Amino acid sequence: TYVIAQPCVDVQDRACLIECPVDCIYQGNRTLYINPSECVDCRACEPVCPVEAIFYVEDVPQQWAHYTTINAEYFQTP
Ligand code: SF4
Repeated sequence: TYVIAQPCVDVQDRACLIECPVDCIYQGNRTLYINPSECVDCRACEPVCPVEAIFYVEDVPQQWAHYTTINAEYFQTP
C-alpha cells in the first residue's frame, strides 16, 4: 500500500484522489487517507502530490512512520 504522511495535513490538494484508479483515497477533516485494503500499489498518486506526502509503505521516512498506522486506523470499524 501507499501511505499519505504529514505534508498533506491542512493541504488536501486532492490531485491524488482524482488520479487514483480504484478510488481508495478518502478525505478526512485535515488530511487525505489511503485505504490499505483497497490500494493496488499502482503508484499513480505519488508523483502528482504537490507536497510529496505520498510514499510506498516501505519507503515512508522514519519521522512519519506512524502515518502508516494513521492511514490504516482511519478505515477500522470499531
Ligand atoms: Fe490509489 Fe494507486 Fe495511489 Fe494506491 S498507489 S492509493 S491504488 S493511486
